[in-house]
Amino acid sequence: PSAPARSRRHSPLIDRAMVAPVAHDGVTDRLWRSIRGPVELVVVDPGASGELLAARARVHVSVLLIALHLLPGWPSGTDALVLLLAVAVLGYALFVRKWAASHYSASMGYATSVIDVSCVTLALAVMCHDDATAPLRSIVRFQLYFLAVSISSLKMNWRISAVAGVLGVAQYAVLVWTISVAADLSPGWTLQAGRLGTLMGAGYLGVVVVLRAQQLRDLSTRDFLTGLATRAVLDGRLSEELSRARRHRRRFALALVDIDNFKLFNDRHGHPEGDSVLRGVADVFRSSVRESDLVARYGGAEFAVLLPEASVIEARAKLEALRLMVEATPFADRDGRVAHRITLSAGLAEYPGDGTSVVELMAAADARLYQAKRAGRNRVVVAS
Ligand code: GH3
Ligand code: MG
Repeated sequence: PSAPARSRRHSPLIDRAMVAPVAHDGVTDRLWRSIRGPVELVVVDPGASGELLAARARVHVSVLLIALHLLPGWPSGTDALVLLLAVAVLGYALFVRKWAASHYSASMGYATSVIDVSCVTLALAVMCHDDATAPLRSIVRFQLYFLAVSISSLKMNWRISAVAGVLGVAQYAVLVWTISVAADLSPGWTLQAGRLGTLMGAGYLGVVVVLRAQQLRDLSTRDFLTGLATRAVLDGRLSEELSRARRHRRRFALALVDIDNFKLFNDRHGHPEGDSVLRGVADVFRSSVRESDLVARYGGAEFAVLLPEASVIEARAKLEALRLMVEATPFADRDGRVAHRITLSAGLAEYPGDGTSVVELMAAADARLYQAKRAGRNRVVVAS
């Protein structure tokens, strides 16, 4: 997991949110939450599922376009060409929907957005077939750019939103310029500048909405104090990892890690010092695990580490390295004067050797953590 901005931890907005009383759950609250439910999924589950959502929206939009073209009767001329294009987009949309479900990659998000925007430009360009200057006056087809940019924002990647917005502006500007040169007339630059400006505004809004959604997602999926994943995120990842491991007959390791004698530390140095050490330990974890690993704050001074595809030997080596690193790290106090030393104990369990359910694996890791504490702390226990 990437490190959150340090300033965000101290945002006055968050501080107020932390002390705000928890609202009691009334009927209207629950109703409101159930109405808003599916939207939150978009925010919480970006990447592949964002692409899937975009793919579904693309299918719906192309079906709508086909219906709109067929409503007045069988079209002819450029309308027939655009109908053909809409049918081709539907085919491509169905293909992407299937492909995104199994072969998602980050570059796919860029590719499909580039294709979406380019299809709108193509739909405008074919209008030249009947009247060379028709694209300059088209209202409905020009507005399809806004749909393409909006669909891009469903992918929850602000760079893709920016690419879609800039590409729409660039392609439309080139189209207008080409038509005005070919037809040797002024395209009405005031109107065209207004169109380009609103299109740029749509791209900008897409970027802002995505960034805001990511900020909200971070708030709900990251622990406030340490910036690590929350227990809810761990639970979700664990059940995903479990089904993946079952399906592909893979293994993974799960560790519970706890700071030793931390109550004593708090009593001696005060809670704010304890908080600063907790952040320091989280930083050590964050900088030492792979992108595919997950470190979550499991409880007060307890962390869970999920290591996908790791054998017991690999996981033990990783945890030993973490333990030694924390033991060797002097954690500066808030004034940067005293260097605190702390140690960790860990209990490690592996799938499928120690259990085939989340409950069994957690119980095994917890039992070993307890053994590590009883055996004198500052150690990693792997098997009974
Ligand atoms: P052990 O070695 O057996 O784990 O002893 P311990 O004192 O660490 O006992 P335990 O793990 O049960 O206690 C965890 C302590 O962590 C209790 C509490 O004082 C402290 N703690 C929990 N959450 C926070 C926090 O957010 N900030 C700070 N400063 N301390 C916390
Ligand atoms: Mg402890």
